[in-house]
Amino acid sequence: MTEEKAGDALCGEKDMCPQERFMRQAIKLARQSVEQGGGPFGAVIVKEGKVVATGHNQVVPSCDPTAHAEVSAIRAAAAALGTFDLSGCEIYTSCEPCPMCLGAIYWARIGRMYYGCDQQDAARIGFDDSFIYREMALDPVRRRLVSCRMLADEAREAFRAWEAKPDKTEY
Ligand SMILES: [Zn+2]
Repeated sequence: MTEEKAGDALCGEKDMCPQERFMRQAIKLARQSVEQGGGPFGAVIVKEGKVVATGHNQVVPSCDPTAHAEVSAIRAAAAALGTFDLSGCEIYTSCEPCPMCLGAIYWARIGRMYYGCDQQDAARIGFDDSFIYREMALDPVRRRLVSCRMLADEAREAFRAWEAKPDKTEY
């Protein structure tokens, strides 16, 4: 058997490799989400070859602009594992994450991501987050979001309290 054929056998329809199985689950969640009134996005979090949690977009049904598939899956995985640290986990998402979800993936310390659709696919159906990526690179005074800095010294008091706290849980 050639190397290519071995690869086909590994990732073929009949004998799906685990990565394809998890991605198909994320895609199925995305399709189900559409039927339930959510956006077409699904995500699956896997640790050591097992599904820890899943999520799908629930922005409209739950009136929550942060209820994206990846954030929902991260919250569920953290609750299931009883930790804020998802090191060693992988995320399978039906679409390349938006800046919020990408940030959440980093904060959760998920080490590997698999995605199906990309940003351009999402933009074509009305989910264009490219402007957020562009905004993030700008100095706050140049962003579309009006941002005013104030009471910095008073705000730093919370930081001083954090630095001085001997028994804090760092994350
Ligand atoms: Zn997102």
